[in-house]
Amino acid sequence: MVQGQALELYLHIPFCVRKCRYCDFLSMAAGEDVRRKYVDRLLEEIRIQSQQCKDYQVISVFVGGGTPSLLAGVQIWEIMEAVRSHFCLKEDVEITLECNPGTLTAGKLSFYQSAGINRLSLGLQSADNRELQELGRIHTFEDFLESFDLARKKGFDNINIDLISSLPGQTPRDWAYTLKKVSGLRPEHISAYSLIVEEGTPFYELYGEDELRRQRGEEPYILPTEEAERDMYELTLEILESRGYRRYEISNYALPHRECRHNIGYWQLVPYLGLGLGSSSFIENVRFSNTRNLSAYLEGEFCRLTEILAYADRQCEEGHKCDGGQSCKQEGEVFYLHKRQQIEEFMFLGMRMMEGVSREKFREKFGMTLEGIYGTVLQKLQRQGLIEQCEGMVRLTREGIAVSNYVFSEFLDDSYIR
Ligand code: SF4
Repeated sequence: MVQGQALELYLHIPFCVRKCRYCDFLSMAAGEDVRRKYVDRLLEEIRIQSQQCKDYQVISVFVGGGTPSLLAGVQIWEIMEAVRSHFCLKEDVEITLECNPGTLTAGKLSFYQSAGINRLSLGLQSADNRELQELGRIHTFEDFLESFDLARKKGFDNINIDLISSLPGQTPRDWAYTLKKVSGLRPEHISAYSLIVEEGTPFYELYGEDELRRQRGEEPYILPTEEAERDMYELTLEILESRGYRRYEISNYALPHRECRHNIGYWQLVPYLGLGLGSSSFIENVRFSNTRNLSAYLEGEFCRLTEILAYADRQCEEGHKCDGGQSCKQEGEVFYLHKRQQIEEFMFLGMRMMEGVSREKFREKFGMTLEGIYGTVLQKLQRQGLIEQCEGMVRLTREGIAVSNYVFSEFLDDSYIR
C-alpha cells in the first residue's frame, strides 16, 4: 500500500419509498426499524473497514442508493460523522448525496450541510409528468422544482440532475423539452442515460418483447426506434453544449470545473471502498462485493478488508510466478485482477471519458507503452475513424462515441494483446 494513496468511498442506502417500474438497482421499501438497524450496521462496517485504510486519503465520498434522502437527516449526519472520524479525508473532499424529489425537506438539507455534504445528485429522470408516472416515480416535475429550489436556497451550489432518455412513447421532441427545462435551471451537472429495459422489472414484462424487436432491427411498437434514439443522443449534445455544458464522459455533462470527481476517479481506476448492502469495492487490485441479502447484512455479514488484503498479498506473490496474463482468480465473490485485466479495465473505463487515455499515465501505471500492448488495435480503430490520437492522449471520435461498445470490446480482445 502506498502512503497517502487516493481512495474513494461509496456508501449504499438501499431504501426507497417504493420500487420504480424500470429499476433493477438493489433497493427496496422498508420500515423505520429496519432502516435504523441498517444504519447501525453501516456505522459498524465503517469503523471496522477503516482500520485497514489508515494509509489512504479519501478524495471523494458518494452516498448512493436507493434513496439516501429517505433516511432521517440526523442518520445521514451520523454516517458522515463516522466517516470523518474513522477515515482520513482530503481537505477539499467531494461529498455527494443522492436525493429524490418528494423526500427532501429544509430540515434534512440543514443536516446535510452540517454533515459536510457539498454536492447533491437529484433523481429527476424527466420533466414530463406523464413520463414520470409511466416510470413509476413518486414525484411530479413540480415536486422536483420545489426540492431544487429548497437546495439552492440552502446554499447548495453543486447539484447534479439525473435524466433518462428513450422512454416508452417518447419522441426526440419530448426529450428536447426535458433537456431545455432542466438546463434552464442551470444545475452544475447533468447525467443523461438511455433507458435499459432490465430483466426482472415490470418494464421488462411490458416492453421486453419490444426491446427484442428493436435489437433484431425491427420496428418497436412503443419504445423509440433506433433512429429516434440516435436523434435523442445527438440532441443531448446539441442542446446541452449550446447552453454551456461540456460533455466529459459519454453520458455526463458539466459546467466548467464541475465534473463529478467521484465518477472520474472510478473511470481512472482509483481504488474505491464500498460500504453497505451489495456494495462493490476495488482495492489493492482486488474486486469484491458485499452480500446482497439484507437479513444477512443486518446480521453482520460483510467482507472484511483484513481478509481481502491478506488474499491480495498472496495473489501478488503468486503473480511473480505467472506472466501477468492469466485469468481472473476467484475466491467466493472476491476477484484478483492480474495485470492484463487491470490494463483492459484501464482502457475500457478510461476511454469513456472524452479526454481519453493518457499514454504517459498508461506507461507510469503499467511500465509498458500503449503501443506495445495495443499497437494493432489502435491502428485498426484509427483507420476506421473511431479513435484519434493527439497531445499524448487516445480518445474516441464522434463516430467512435456512437459505437462505443464496439470500440471498448476491441480493448478486451486478447488477440490484439501482443
Ligand atoms: S428511486 Fe432510484 S433506486 Fe429507488 S426504485 Fe426508483 S430508480 Fe430504483
